[in-house]
Amino acid sequence: MVLKLSPMVSIAVVAICILGILIAVLLFFVNATKVLPVPPKSAVYRDSTFDTETRITDLLSYMTLEEKIGQMALIEKNSVAEVSDISRYGLGALLSGMGAKPEQNTAAGWKKMVTDFTDESMNSRLQIPILYGIDAIHGHSNVPEATIFPHAIGLGAAGDEQLVEDIARAAAAEIKATGITWSYSPTLDLPRDIRWGRTYEAFSDNPELTGRLGAAYIKGIQQGRGTTSTPSLFVAATAKHYIGLGAMQWGTASNQNYKIDQGTTAVDEQSLRTEYLPPFASAVSAGVASIMVGLNSYGDTKLSAESYLITTVLKEELNFKGFTVSDWYAVYEMEGSDYDNAVAAITAGIDMVMLPFEYRPFIKNVAKAVRRGDISEERIDDAVRRILRAKFNLGLFDSTVALPELSVVGSTEHRDLARRAVAQSLVLLKNTNQVLPIRPTVSHIKIAGSAADNIGRQAGAWTVEWQGIDGNWLPGATSILTGIKNRAGNRLVEYDVLGEFASTSPRAQIGIVFVGEKPYAEGWGDTEFPIASNEDLVAIKNMQLEADVVVVVTVSGRPLLLANEISDVDALVAAWLPGSEGAGVADVLFGNVPFTGTLPLPWPHHAEQFPISLTGETADGTVPLFPREFGLR
Ligand code: BGC
Repeated sequence: MVLKLSPMVSIAVVAICILGILIAVLLFFVNATKVLPVPPKSAVYRDSTFDTETRITDLLSYMTLEEKIGQMALIEKNSVAEVSDISRYGLGALLSGMGAKPEQNTAAGWKKMVTDFTDESMNSRLQIPILYGIDAIHGHSNVPEATIFPHAIGLGAAGDEQLVEDIARAAAAEIKATGITWSYSPTLDLPRDIRWGRTYEAFSDNPELTGRLGAAYIKGIQQGRGTTSTPSLFVAATAKHYIGLGAMQWGTASNQNYKIDQGTTAVDEQSLRTEYLPPFASAVSAGVASIMVGLNSYGDTKLSAESYLITTVLKEELNFKGFTVSDWYAVYEMEGSDYDNAVAAITAGIDMVMLPFEYRPFIKNVAKAVRRGDISEERIDDAVRRILRAKFNLGLFDSTVALPELSVVGSTEHRDLARRAVAQSLVLLKNTNQVLPIRPTVSHIKIAGSAADNIGRQAGAWTVEWQGIDGNWLPGATSILTGIKNRAGNRLVEYDVLGEFASTSPRAQIGIVFVGEKPYAEGWGDTEFPIASNEDLVAIKNMQLEADVVVVVTVSGRPLLLANEISDVDALVAAWLPGSEGAGVADVLFGNVPFTGTLPLPWPHHAEQFPISLTGETADGTVPLFPREFGLR
């Protein structure tokens, strides 16, 4: 039977239906655009007269679960799909993976980029500023005109806490001038196997020296200098990489392109505690703001999932009050699903996750895990409290923080300091007949070798690009050769990379060969045989025909296997990776500054000796070429 309605009733029914649909649509939009209230201007967390913990508690009380999780996300700046996502998702921090530069790669360009990102974070409901992180591991080395200090291994050779603290203060001023407040330094790894491509990032393989220099660095960078600002943190330091880096076994790398980097640390808990933990204990005592958890594994477990080492040892035993951050993509390199990995890492005690690409699925997964009870709300609150603590202590919520002038970047004062550091880092390993320092009677010097006139090689990697730039490019830098020419006075200085000089060129009184390594970073620098290149070996041979005495200077991120070659030369000097101020090398070679450096790690004789233990035992039981702390005066 068909129901017949009068036209009036039909119209009324249709009208009711349309009205219903309109109301539903309206409700949908009202719901979708439901705006949470903005806390009042007088909110406790906005008021700098309250203490940090009270401000954090207040801010946490306003935060939704998603806003809290957003704070735990660290995103690579090029992976931010739309800039407005920073405020939409309330992201906690951005980073420039080394080489992720602003359009205009200058100090001013960096400042503009970071300021724009920070301003965007202030559009979030709660106006929580982002942290911006960079790998300023030897000065503000992403920025071409910055002062590039010697890599840490050279500072370990200098072994001078005051020098390290001064360098950290100078670097902090350059970093902060560009609006950046978070550096992924210092490195506290203990390289026991020089085949590792990150050997030079460490001060030493000696925990005591590493702890001392690390603490001095943290003091300098976190206190800063030359500013009118008052926050307790100037730039937040990051002690890395927790824990056991440098003790990985050759051939265990989880990254198939690498050999030892990201490998398995195979030491028992006792050694981990007596050797690898003390530098981090020093960092915690120095008040380090954050600690980066390594990409290595301990047993079968990736460090980022190591709840005993992160929570029990670091946070509970050492009483670390800062925040932990996982390393690049580490959480997703574990074996489970993205959901399971995020749960494992956060439960283990990771506070901020260096994703670094995808933030939306991360926020969704972690929120789901909390709702399901897989991650406790207390754990999230603890993580966010730790992150906010650094932000409040940096003064990021308060408008009183003054940035140093951009002119500090690469200033003469900082370059002079770097030059002094270079001079202090040189280690004299052999000096037959006291051929060094170069005598006043020497009137003709020949120079050769791949690192003599190559600023990219003397600076090493983590300089403007992740893998560095092999070649003579870095504004304001001085090559070793230029430094020598400037010091040489009236002496004749001739240079050829291979030591091939014109047949008319007379024999020089001294020939110096600067043996180098192509810049390398991380596992790309893993190498089974750390030896000099053929090109440099040829240069040494040639120089023996060109000069009365021959000096070899290694410009490298690690000791090189040169036992055979050096038996035929008169002097050997380790100059590590000196950075932008090559003139510091000449200062010592000409005797204006004395040799005072000592080896920060043993110098092996041959490849079968790797790895070498803390007490100096080699793998094959033979004696290293030079022991740790060796250095002639
Ligand atoms: C390195 C860290 C570095 C991070 C961010 C990782 O690949 O292991 O040392 O801080 O990248 O650039």
